[in-house]
Amino acid sequence: MTVDAAVLHDALSGLIRDVPDFPEVGVVFKDISPLLADHDGFTTVVEALASSGRDEKGVVDVDKVVGIEARGFILAAPVALALGVGFVPVRKAGKLPGPTHRQSYLLEYGEATLEVHQDAFREGDRVLVIDDVLATGGTVDATMRLVTRGGGVVSAVAVLIELGFLSGREKLGDCRLSALTTT
Ligand code: AMP
Repeated sequence: MTVDAAVLHDALSGLIRDVPDFPEVGVVFKDISPLLADHDGFTTVVEALASSGRDEKGVVDVDKVVGIEARGFILAAPVALALGVGFVPVRKAGKLPGPTHRQSYLLEYGEATLEVHQDAFREGDRVLVIDDVLATGGTVDATMRLVTRGGGVVSAVAVLIELGFLSGREKLGDCRLSALTTT
């Protein structure tokens, strides 16, 4: 299914809410709750994200879709179903029950750690990574390292919103990044 650009634009501009000073002063939080609650908007966005897992002929060219906890899960799981491939969660430290790879990264204040199950990928799996927002890029960068350590190959990264002024894209090197909207 191809996504109508005007419908996608309406979904992104009308259904994502800016919440100033959340979770802390100075941050404008991109709240996707209205989008998730709108069946047509959610469907359009899932299809648009799924197009990053298809080649120019529309053939699926990934083996797994990774979602990053927590809002990335909500987007990545239906994308995996739309593409007919498996879903892999990348979770915050201490949530996954089996043996994991762990990757820490720097936040503005302090450090965060993400994990993935060691057996989540088969050697050479082509992986589409999905999250809601690309800000500084630290979260996606850590996730890409986890995919690589697990034996996968990151084919593309797709996000709903890129905060362009934070230059997160630069952390992704030459990996293909698709942002449905950039602010
Ligand atoms: P970063 O590692 O700086 O690229 O931050 C990306 C992660 O933080 C994503 O998982 C987002 O869900 C979350 N995030 C960062 N900034 C925002 C924002 N302004 N609004 C909503 N989520 C954000």
